[in-house]
Amino acid sequence: MYLIKKLFPVVLLFFALACSDKKSSETNKSDSTSSSNTISRAAYQQDLQGKKVDLFLLTNKNRMSVYITNFGGRIVSMNVPNKTGTLTDVVLGYDSLQHYINRKENYFGALIGRYGNRIAKGKFQLDGKLYELAINNPPNSLHGGPRGFHDQVWDAKQIDDQSLELSYLSKDMEEGYPGNLQVKVRYTLTDDNSIEISYNATTDKKTILNLTNHSYFNLNGAGSGTINNHLLTINANKFTPVDSTLIPNGQLVDVAGTAFDFRKPRAIGDSVNAKSEQIINGKGYDHNFVLNRETVHDLELAATVYSTTSGIKMEVFTQEPGIQFYGGNFLDSSLLGKRNLYYSYRTAFCLETQHFPDAPNHHSFATTELMPGKTYATKTIYKFGLQ
Ligand code: BGC
Repeated sequence: MYLIKKLFPVVLLFFALACSDKKSSETNKSDSTSSSNTISRAAYQQDLQGKKVDLFLLTNKNRMSVYITNFGGRIVSMNVPNKTGTLTDVVLGYDSLQHYINRKENYFGALIGRYGNRIAKGKFQLDGKLYELAINNPPNSLHGGPRGFHDQVWDAKQIDDQSLELSYLSKDMEEGYPGNLQVKVRYTLTDDNSIEISYNATTDKKTILNLTNHSYFNLNGAGSGTINNHLLTINANKFTPVDSTLIPNGQLVDVAGTAFDFRKPRAIGDSVNAKSEQIINGKGYDHNFVLNRETVHDLELAATVYSTTSGIKMEVFTQEPGIQFYGGNFLDSSLLGKRNLYYSYRTAFCLETQHFPDAPNHHSFATTELMPGKTYATKTIYKFGLQ
């Protein structure tokens, strides 16, 4: 009896410790935003368009991870440590390949080509010859057409734990664009928590090209609510105003004194409902910013976004002359994404580095033409940190 009495508190303590241990490991599991825990590779492994689709994982020494599928070259999940060290999945997406195929939103995480953003009425000319593209965003052509690069299975080669190379041959006149175009995109996750996207392409006939990535970001975690409180800085003194179909009118207008002045950190929601013509045309922010550049083609800081809630900061570096800031105006609460979370209105933003929309029809904009014998080469980096 004496022994039982003596041992009872020890047993009790042991039991309590065991329970608390279990609880904390369970919390950690769900705390790590379940991203790396719940994503199923099998849900992506399927034959499609005569090729094998798969899910690829990039990891670095800071526990950051990025999942990419070769269907559309899409970033499916990007897990970044927040201010408490918890991994937060900062991009919108779906749970399986089937969801991406039957998608309601076309471009989650996708590589966009041949032409990022719009071409007015789907028409452009090269050497006096008229080319006509499918009108998938009436009255214009958007993001390379209905079967653009976002809808194609790319050939994938995992180089190592931190890098994946995707290749795609876009045949002459595919989606109405001339030239057999050989494209290579390399995603690299570096140890400073950057995801680098290097784009390369060559053609056998003169063509136009404007490649980008269309990730939808929420720095508090995909599906966690509005991004209107994120603080945004864009290194641009000018933007390209658009008509009501989102085609630039050709002017470069000063951001000073307008809803488009993000030269200092400002909440995205500050002027998102301004009664200005441009905000009305874009249904919020859906505009190309003319980046202030010190060099013609080096990597330079284009934009920074920061959330005080998660403490996560994202910096965008690019070699491109422009960036499309899109504030998720067409997202709506019927959009069911990863982990059964709904993606409602303005719960994500995109920062798509690019040449200007409709450049082939505006000779004052930097050219998007690519000649045979020349190599298209451009790089963009999304770098994550804490502030
Ligand atoms: C465009 C938006 C479009 C969105 C589609 C953006 O790049 O500028 O107008 O709705 O892509 O997801």
